[in-house]
Amino acid sequence: QRIAVLKERASGETRVSATPETVKKLAALGASIAVESGAGITASISDEAYRAAGAEVGPVETVVSGADIVLGVQGVDPALLGAVKPGAWVIGILDPFGQRERIHAYASAGLEALAMEFMPRITRAQSMDVLSSQSNLAGYKAVIEAANLYGRAFPMMMTAAGTISAAKCFVMGVGVAGLQAIATARRLGAQVSATDVRSATKEQILSLGAKPIFVENVEGIEGEGSGGYATEMSEEYQKAQAELVSSHIAKQDIVITTALIPGLAAPRLVTDAQIASMKAGSVIFDLAAPQGGNVEGTVPDQVVEKHGVKIVGFSNTPAHLPADASALYARNLFNFLSAFWDKEQGKPVLDEEIGDAVRLTQGGKIVSERLQRA
Ligand code: NAD
Repeated sequence: QRIAVLKERASGETRVSATPETVKKLAALGASIAVESGAGITASISDEAYRAAGAEVGPVETVVSGADIVLGVQGVDPALLGAVKPGAWVIGILDPFGQRERIHAYASAGLEALAMEFMPRITRAQSMDVLSSQSNLAGYKAVIEAANLYGRAFPMMMTAAGTISAAKCFVMGVGVAGLQAIATARRLGAQVSATDVRSATKEQILSLGAKPIFVENVEGIEGEGSGGYATEMSEEYQKAQAELVSSHIAKQDIVITTALIPGLAAPRLVTDAQIASMKAGSVIFDLAAPQGGNVEGTVPDQVVEKHGVKIVGFSNTPAHLPADASALYARNLFNFLSAFWDKEQGKPVLDEEIGDAVRLTQGGKIVSERLQRA
């Protein structure tokens, strides 16, 4: 099998889909790996490092030519599709709901597109779960960025000149990113509280030493849908949540929002009126910015100041930690390919459970049920 590793072309994308470590491991499976020149530069990996790991390094046309598997972070640029041989696999974070046209183009080109973000959330797929590996880093970075924009310190400090009180940090949405945000804010010494629609997260919040803020006694309280994901909440719940959050948020210095509902726009969690109730100098980091934002007024990649509060969110948070995000993403891809590597055939063969979940296109058609349903 020939595996091509592309340089990312999307603006702001700094990650790469293979590292020298995973190149070596893929080669050990029997694959030959071709890396596009400069693919790792933004993640601090030189062409030389890929060569030393056993990869061929060259221009994109050479790399892609004859490839059975094309690895990328955001998939293959439409301009390159003609160069990829029909039947090849394209593996990446393909954004199936946002990039429908491009998914159709993969189908028309006869490619088999595999969307890593559609990996089922089952125990054996945990090591292949790109949403988890990237969200974890995003949760960390959100707090670091918020701390950077905050004009005060996070920890309580008792100094000869007087005492500084600890920052109050509120994390909304306690999935993978939210848990890491709580842990990071705690490490920096903030007083942390958190909320979610899934009541199972209450224990997790407590175990990280933070305070759970939860709506009680409302119809439709259990917001857990399939696969451990959140569902959309009842109107009554949303109203109760808004009231609870309003009184709490006014006392916060830092708010980190992370709430997502798969396939839908991000739920609105913080309104302009709530922002106005916060103290001047507070900072909100909106991790849902690329999906429309949890916060009223978020503009991706800009620091917006409203009522003296800074609101910030990146369009691609993991790309702000290129080296680690690439290392973990590349391992996710290796774990995926190696788990299904058939030694006799010398290539990966997917099983039904995971194959059907991640496969978007095959034989010139869109075959993903999840994509067809949406
Ligand atoms: P996510 O990124 O889809 O959403 C982030 C969080 O926002 C979730 O906790 C969600 O409940 C919450 N949320 C949604 N709407 C909200 C609202 N209106 N108000 C407040 N919070 C809201 O979540 P995620 O990080 O992908 O994690 C989802 C679940 O999947 C978790 O239970 C996680 O532990 C589980 N998981 C399982 C595996 C596995 O077994 N392989 C891997 C990763 C995650």
